Amino acid sequence: MELWAIVAPGKPLQKIEQADPVPQGTEVLIRVTHCGVCHSDLHLWKGEYDLGGGKKLNILDRGVTLPRAPGHEVLGEVVAIGPDAQGVKVGDKRVVYPWMGCGTCAVCARGEENLCDKPHAIGVIHHGGFGSHVLLPHPRYLFDYGTVDPAVAVTFACSGITVHSAIRKLGEIDRAASILLIGAGGLGFAALRMLQALGHSSVIVTDINPAKRDAVMAAGATAFVPAGPDLIAEVHRIAGGPPAACIDLVNNGKTTQTGLDVLGRGGKLVLVGVGGGEIALSTAGMIFRPRSIIGSATGSFADMTAVIELANSGKLKAVPVSCMARDHANQAMERLEHGEVTGRIVLV
Ligand SMILES: [Zn+2]
Ligand SMILES: [Zn+2]
Repeated sequence: MELWAIVAPGKPLQKIEQADPVPQGTEVLIRVTHCGVCHSDLHLWKGEYDLGGGKKLNILDRGVTLPRAPGHEVLGEVVAIGPDAQGVKVGDKRVVYPWMGCGTCAVCARGEENLCDKPHAIGVIHHGGFGSHVLLPHPRYLFDYGTVDPAVAVTFACSGITVHSAIRKLGEIDRAASILLIGAGGLGFAALRMLQALGHSSVIVTDINPAKRDAVMAAGATAFVPAGPDLIAEVHRIAGGPPAACIDLVNNGKTTQTGLDVLGRGGKLVLVGVGGGEIALSTAGMIFRPRSIIGSATGSFADMTAVIELANSGKLKAVPVSCMARDHANQAMERLEHGEVTGRIVLV
């Protein structure tokens, strides 16, 4: 197998060759046909996350070893199975649930491996879809994506379930209530599509780049408001008051503060991105104007099942995807880093 791998933080990915793994026990070997490129891949490539207050989290302290092929949105064909792998056969085309946990704790047992304390994520701790093959420990990570275009279905593994999980955290919310989305990148578009699929009729989108307006409005957003000093007043004017909720898909501290400040009493802020940074929180202010701040990391098996069902029912419209050859992995990362991408780049 060949891998486009991170060999040193921030240095160009290098193509390396390794022997094809032979699946043992319940293991399954996938030949990768599609791999979405995510902002988290950029963070992994740069080697660190900004935790705010001048603190950084180095990926090597997160259990990552190099070289590592990134890519956690993986879709492909089963090419070999271990003797104990059941419910799967060679030739099956499946999308991979990449947020593997230990597989044995109570959290994993209830299908929330993304919340396990011992993460084993594909494309982070194990080689991901920037390689020609991915080895999985068990067939339970494989999901039948039905009749959906594989270049779209591959995005369910991260962006799809991440936004579904974030929206689920809003709880029971009036479908007509206004929701503000911060960020019109891959996750922002996915969130807009998911809210529409779930019947939400008032979605306002903001982004630092005013050029995103046309694409956001063409996708059916209620309004687009560029980031700036008038953002909160403008959102209140359009929504007829504070929005019921805000999902911050950038979460760089500045956007997070905006997300908190834009809300009124009872509002919910869900944090999704790993932009880094920090916010000032008036503790008494959280009583006089009570709001919830909820962190959300990827999604569960149930989110994966729900997103695939929504897509196959026709309710979930596809996010824009542009395909690039895997051998252009470095250019794909650069395009994403420079904000040149609307929707998702998919390596094929
Ligand atoms: Zn991702
Ligand atoms: Zn676990």
